[in-house]
Amino acid sequence: MNTDLSLFSLTFTSKINIEPPYTFPKTHLNNSEHFYMAKPKLEKHHINRDWCKGCGICVELCPKKVLELDDHEKVSALRPQDCICCKFCELRCPDLAIEIETKE
Ligand code: SF4
Ligand code: SF4
Repeated sequence: MNTDLSLFSLTFTSKINIEPPYTFPKTHLNNSEHFYMAKPKLEKHHINRDWCKGCGICVELCPKKVLELDDHEKVSALRPQDCICCKFCELRCPDLAIEIETKE
């Protein structure tokens, strides 16, 4: 049996010299026109108070602490200026009671 592994070890132990600046093949994904997406800006929180059951899921999930439950156990957007439009609240509300409207 041939036990010569020199070719194998050469392949896996050779030092690969990668130094900055790193370059990537130009594709439609790293074309600057497509790679940098504009951040959405908040237009308005639409909260359907009739549908909100005050479970607080959105309040807990909001990464920017924008939402709070009011005295009637309904959600309110108390700090809309901090909203980053991630839409966690909209996507995770079990009652579809909150919608994030964004502008271009
Ligand atoms: S997750 Fe929905 S139902 Fe629960 S508090 Fe938020 S808006 Fe209301
Ligand atoms: S979109 Fe994100 S940041 Fe804005 S209120 Fe909902 S969870 Fe919070």
